[in-house]
Amino acid sequence: MSERMNENERFGSLLFNESAMKKYISGESLDVWRECVRTRTVLPEKIAADIADGMKRWALEKGATHYTHWFQPLHGETAEKHEGFLIPDGKDGYRMEFSRKELVRGEPDASSFPSGGLRSTFEARGYSAWDPTSYAFIKDKVLCIPTVFCAYSGEVLDKKTPLLRSCDALNTQAVRILRLIGDDKTESIRVNVGPEQEYFLIPKKLFQKRMDLRLCGRTLFGADAPKKQELEDHYYGAIKPEITQFMQEINEELWKLGICAKTEHNEVAPAQYEMAPFFTDANTANDQNQLTMEIMKRVADRLDLVCLFHEKPFAGVNGSGKHVNWSVSTDRGENLFSPGETPADNTRFLLFLAAFVKGVDEYSELLRCACAYAGNDSRLGGQEAPPAIISVFVGTELEGVIDSIIRGETYVNQGDHYLTVGKDILLQLSKDNTDRNRTSPVAFTGNKFEFRMPGSSQSIAAPVTYLNVIMAQELKEAADILEKSEDKPGAVRELIRKMLSEHRRILFNGNGYDQAWIEEAERRGLKNLRNTAEALPENVSEKNIRILTENGIYTRKEMESRNEVRIENYCGITVIEARTLLEMIRQGIFGAVSDYLTAMPGRFHFEKQLAEKAGALGNDLMHATEALEEAVGRFEKAGSAEEKLSVCSGIIVPRMAACRQVIDQLEKIVDQRFWPYPTYTELMFTI
Ligand code: ADP
Ligand code: MG
Repeated sequence: MSERMNENERFGSLLFNESAMKKYISGESLDVWRECVRTRTVLPEKIAADIADGMKRWALEKGATHYTHWFQPLHGETAEKHEGFLIPDGKDGYRMEFSRKELVRGEPDASSFPSGGLRSTFEARGYSAWDPTSYAFIKDKVLCIPTVFCAYSGEVLDKKTPLLRSCDALNTQAVRILRLIGDDKTESIRVNVGPEQEYFLIPKKLFQKRMDLRLCGRTLFGADAPKKQELEDHYYGAIKPEITQFMQEINEELWKLGICAKTEHNEVAPAQYEMAPFFTDANTANDQNQLTMEIMKRVADRLDLVCLFHEKPFAGVNGSGKHVNWSVSTDRGENLFSPGETPADNTRFLLFLAAFVKGVDEYSELLRCACAYAGNDSRLGGQEAPPAIISVFVGTELEGVIDSIIRGETYVNQGDHYLTVGKDILLQLSKDNTDRNRTSPVAFTGNKFEFRMPGSSQSIAAPVTYLNVIMAQELKEAADILEKSEDKPGAVRELIRKMLSEHRRILFNGNGYDQAWIEEAERRGLKNLRNTAEALPENVSEKNIRILTENGIYTRKEMESRNEVRIENYCGITVIEARTLLEMIRQGIFGAVSDYLTAMPGRFHFEKQLAEKAGALGNDLMHATEALEEAVGRFEKAGSAEEKLSVCSGIIVPRMAACRQVIDQLEKIVDQRFWPYPTYTELMFTI
């Protein structure tokens, strides 16, 4: 790329970042902007006007014709409404209009975005407000301004605002505790996030032949291909030319937007891949992930492929997740989850670690809820993804350290690394200590936590918001205790010991897929919220409302309305899937089975046998279909949200599974000439 790179192909060339700002706004404005971003204060009007003017000139020079406030409503994707720069001047000419007013505030009609009853119909307006902490960028000749999105009454209607608030809450508490343990330098902390994005790529022409893929993003039936992932030959395998081209084009587009793919490789399932960007601050990482998904879809389309972000597009092979790597560092770049070289560094590490462990134990339902939605239900708790039970993996060495802290003993490992409790704490973890436990929902990987529960299609905003707020809450409680103590070092040691011993139960290094773990977790009193319907009520438990309201993330009303949106979303997806399945059965499968039976006149024994089997399965499918139709009818008559939720998860989902079970058997019998839908072999093994 570098040889022929011109100005517009440069890294970040479509990003109004600091180096672009340097050219287009005054030095004074740049300094004020930096300071406002650092201290999270509102920009003075004059400075905002200068930035707007510079941004406009930059965007026009880059060929932009329109601008938009780019925001992240509750449906989890992004929204934009383009406005032209060009305005007739009332004479014969035109002028390019974009000033402070257009930069800082927009008024998109909010009435068609999910709000969970927050926005009354008579006040449909919402407003978007510029987020100066995330760079504006150009996409398809449109200047995109990252914004937050609220109802006119002030309630938050997006995913970015809570994320920003949670970063602030964590910042306040982290700095507070750092002061208490003798750090007088750190002025702010940064939440670092690197999301690993998994996805499938399939040929567009096959995608178009399946209504389930088009409407639901996943297959609702499909017999296993003769080959699945048993040979494990796809994982890290040589990347095929079509896919290489896809990855290259993605990289070039992302590069210009300042997003850099750190790793990309084939994943475990056939036709499955992963891309992980370099980690960055949480807000930027979230924006970048949204953009990345959008660009991936577009590039795939250009290459006659379709990029599937659904968590479980195909049964029988791995689904896709989005591992959220998360850590916290100081403004000087010191990672607070890094075991350090000195006793003081280690105390800090252990304090943050203990607070995290305690937080995950106390608020495990919240983390579970962050990942609870229809698509993830077919993934979590399956055989390849993390189980639905939250636990923390720390690796055997760190677990040994934790246990000796709890017992007040000296930790001795195989090497000469040691740790003593009661005096100075010295701790050196071997580098290869973070052995990979792929079955853990929350894994410590050396200097960060990897939250593996989020699904591939989901915005990372909620998972990161919840991780942040849990950490903020625990640091707050710890700081409250330390503030009152006379002997700070002693109090810190005691606090670490107490937090770890009281929350030891959340640590689990074993195999999360094992049935024995489900039983063991139950003995430990850990919750197993198996699906969205079981999880969502927990999202608005009093405990969870308390932590989120007290840390200034949501009001109670916002939480309740958001939960309503999520219930609606879950039911909406489930019922769309059910209707799609019914239509595919009625319009495609019954006819195919009949045609097949006609072609099997029963002259020979094998024909009779096959026809009999297909006929019997056809009858079974008719029963299963009628049962599913009845369930959809019940849903349509259901009144309250709770009733709808229970019809969906308790009746529709199992009845869809019953239909599928029959269809998959039929697919294996009915002649390919009659089967109307591309099979798993075609979908996953064509490229
Ligand atoms: P894995 O070995 O888990 O597959 P990858 O290299 O695929 O790891 O992805 C790891 C992700 O974690 C990348 O996005 C990377 O930038 C990110 N990451 C690395 N260090 C940190 C950190 N300290 N904090 C947050 N994210 C990090
Ligand atoms: Mg990875």
